[in-house]
Amino acid sequence: MTKGNTKKLKISTLCVHGAGGYDPATGSVGKPIYQTSTFAFESAKAGAEIFTGERKGYVYTRISNPTQEALEKEMAFLEGGEAALAFSSGMAAISSVVLALCKSGDNFVSSDTLYGGSHQLFSETLPRWNIEAREVDATHLKNIEDAIDKNTRLIYIETPANPTMSIVDIEACAKIGKKHGIPVVVDNTFATPYFQRPLELGASIVVHSATKYIGGHGDTVAGVAIADEEFIGNLRMGILRDIGGVISPLNAWLLVRGLKTLAIRMEKHQENALQIAKYLQFHPKVERVMYPGLTAHPQHQLAKSQMSGFGGMISFEVKGGRKAGEKMMDSVELITLAVSLGDVDSLIEHPASMTHSTYSPEDLEAVGITENLVRLSVGIEDPVDIINDLSQALNKIK
Ligand SMILES: *Cc1c(COP(=O)(O)O)cnc(C)c1O
Repeated sequence: MTKGNTKKLKISTLCVHGAGGYDPATGSVGKPIYQTSTFAFESAKAGAEIFTGERKGYVYTRISNPTQEALEKEMAFLEGGEAALAFSSGMAAISSVVLALCKSGDNFVSSDTLYGGSHQLFSETLPRWNIEAREVDATHLKNIEDAIDKNTRLIYIETPANPTMSIVDIEACAKIGKKHGIPVVVDNTFATPYFQRPLELGASIVVHSATKYIGGHGDTVAGVAIADEEFIGNLRMGILRDIGGVISPLNAWLLVRGLKTLAIRMEKHQENALQIAKYLQFHPKVERVMYPGLTAHPQHQLAKSQMSGFGGMISFEVKGGRKAGEKMMDSVELITLAVSLGDVDSLIEHPASMTHSTYSPEDLEAVGITENLVRLSVGIEDPVDIINDLSQALNKIK
């Protein structure tokens, strides 16, 4: 956006224009990629002033870069936040936010159904620095309240949760956070700002694996955090600068390009997912379908109240246990057997042995990730072709 007030624009327009208009220096309509590590100073005095913050300017791409900035500005607009910071991966964004809020001896309360990498970070890695994650069933808010003590520094939730599609009440969590004076961090990867805007519901910080729907094309690993200017400024000049999980200018550019079509992609992902969920719901080889857009989802009403759409992720349990699920996954032809999600291509995987193998068997059971649970990231292909592929694969199960 080069002119006018972006606040008035609708989200699908912001997706196209949020990163700014043409380049004023050259008239280039495509965003330039500032593929540089360092930036020249006009003079020694100017350089020193940029370093102290008296003068605006770029120093070094680990700290800031105009292409990263275009992405950050746009993500802040889309999430309705003051500022954003891009990272080399979703995990870099998540770990950086937690490290910025916690020191040795602190704890935080987290929902127990999480992306497997987040669970690994929380349960195995952070304890090595004496930071304790208290993972609780956050669908019951009392569990969150009960786990908070004087050393609790944040509440971390993922909703819809990967892979069970359970929903956590963002607004209610934000109220608990306010009461205790601690921020609520929401992993908004599954919904994207197109369908869910946690900051408007009272959350303080949003994190994304931008690898997924933000990029949208399965070609870039990246992450973003969105929050107020003060938090993001300190994150940039603290954890990002010191630990260095920086995004490359090229990857930032790929995400800016991906975002241009976020609105139409999300509409199509959702339209396809709803049709497929309805098809699977009554399939004789399917035990249970987990999709928040189905009225049968136990938290459908809550999902409806905090999301404007239900996204493109479906999990379902195949009758006949793990063997049946494996047979089905080995039999798909159009759909790709791969982890990751939010790609324009449909992807299928087995959480218990792949993305969530970081959970112990007991933890898998506790959060409801069963051996016969299959996760499907519904792409933007023709839904008839996806359904036909699932149908032939399910029919291969004896
Ligand atoms: C993939 C994913 C992550 C981790 O992001 P990376 O970009 O792979 O580091 C975090 N949260 C959720 C919900 C994810 O799906």
